[in-house]
Amino acid sequence: MKVCKFGGTSMANGEQIKKVCSIISGDPERRVVVVSAPGKRFDSDTKVTDMLIDCAGKYLANGDYKTVLDEITGRFAGIADELDLGHQIVTDIENNLYTRISLPYDSPEKFMDRMKAAGEDNAARLTACYLRKLGYNAQYLNPKDAGLFLSDEYGNARVLPQSFKNLAKIKDMEGIIIFPGFFGYSLSGEVVTFPRGGSDITGSILAAALEADVYENFTDVDSVFVSSPKIVQNPKPISVLTYREMRELSYAGFSVLHEETLEPVYQRGVPVNIRNTNNPASPGTMITPSRENNGSPVAGIAGDKGFCSINIHKYMMNREIGFGRKVLQILEEEFVPFEHMPSGIDDISIIIRKKYLDNEKKSNIMERIAKELKVDSVSLEYDLGLVMVVGEGMKRTVGILSRITKALSENGINIRMVNQGSSEVSIMFGVCEDDVEKAIKCIYNEFFA
Ligand code: ASP
Repeated sequence: MKVCKFGGTSMANGEQIKKVCSIISGDPERRVVVVSAPGKRFDSDTKVTDMLIDCAGKYLANGDYKTVLDEITGRFAGIADELDLGHQIVTDIENNLYTRISLPYDSPEKFMDRMKAAGEDNAARLTACYLRKLGYNAQYLNPKDAGLFLSDEYGNARVLPQSFKNLAKIKDMEGIIIFPGFFGYSLSGEVVTFPRGGSDITGSILAAALEADVYENFTDVDSVFVSSPKIVQNPKPISVLTYREMRELSYAGFSVLHEETLEPVYQRGVPVNIRNTNNPASPGTMITPSRENNGSPVAGIAGDKGFCSINIHKYMMNREIGFGRKVLQILEEEFVPFEHMPSGIDDISIIIRKKYLDNEKKSNIMERIAKELKVDSVSLEYDLGLVMVVGEGMKRTVGILSRITKALSENGINIRMVNQGSSEVSIMFGVCEDDVEKAIKCIYNEFFA
């Protein structure tokens, strides 16, 4: 059995949904299908999820939410029209949206998640309806009925372990199951969503629960590339990657898969196949537990901006037992996650995503580190970008670091910090944010040009 997931651009309009349904019906093993909300039809278009967030925000602020709600209904009505589905489904979707907005709520986050989930939920109903019109036995399955239970972290949920056993029962259901991505239910019965882009996670949970032969993730590119095509011209495609390589690359900016996608399939060893809805003949990229060495030590190069670093200096830090723990405890108490922690004998740098550090948290943390840990100096360095060079083959190869640093130095890029984990599957470089793209290009040229 194959579990498939179709992203926002695959669901953007009627023409795209026709392609989706022809892919589904082209292979009887494609039995469980996860869909996203309709995404952008063209560059300047707005995703349905963003329209829903806008609508919910306006409702909460007593603004003109009705205009946006009508636009959302209009998007679905346009799709229903292109698929020639008749008026009933449009009335159903309209009622669904009005019910969501008018039911009482006890916190803005709960209300927001209930509204955000409407894109996937109605897209799934619409897709099932179209497949039935084509003569296939297809049914929409609600995540609550299927037992997809999530933690009650609104907008940032995680799957609860009992969901896997519940979802395994889908195996016994007849026909093609169309499952909305991006949301599930808390144990108290409220709609809860994953982080943005989270339909990928739904697909992975289902593939793991059903022990699928493969999780096919359909998007709008032929494969994963060694570097982003937005940065490097015609980068090399990748045919096979390991889970670890993909995880590192998505962490550092590859947007093909949501960063949290791979955990469920990794646990059960289900391979993932990234494919293109607009070119289903292309084999895409396989993500597997291990792969043959293809001769290139580096598999991919990614980069991301928006980091900062708290640099702490204290003479004789290395002799102070518990120093690292105390620093991290301050971060924990301020509820700020950290990304990396490179250190020297008298220095520690804590790398944090800027979005987690508002002004209040920033001054609390800096003050507490200075006062409670009696450090010689603590400073904050902004404008930090990270570049990750990733590849399982690096472990067995001498001289990778020297080739990268040579390429960076020849291009005048200052390396602010370097970090390599013991697995040697990736090397991370901290550079000035403005240098991220240039760094990716020159490392790509060093290994692939
Ligand atoms: N529709 C949601 C978003 O735009 C989830 C997804 O598409 O995966 O973030």
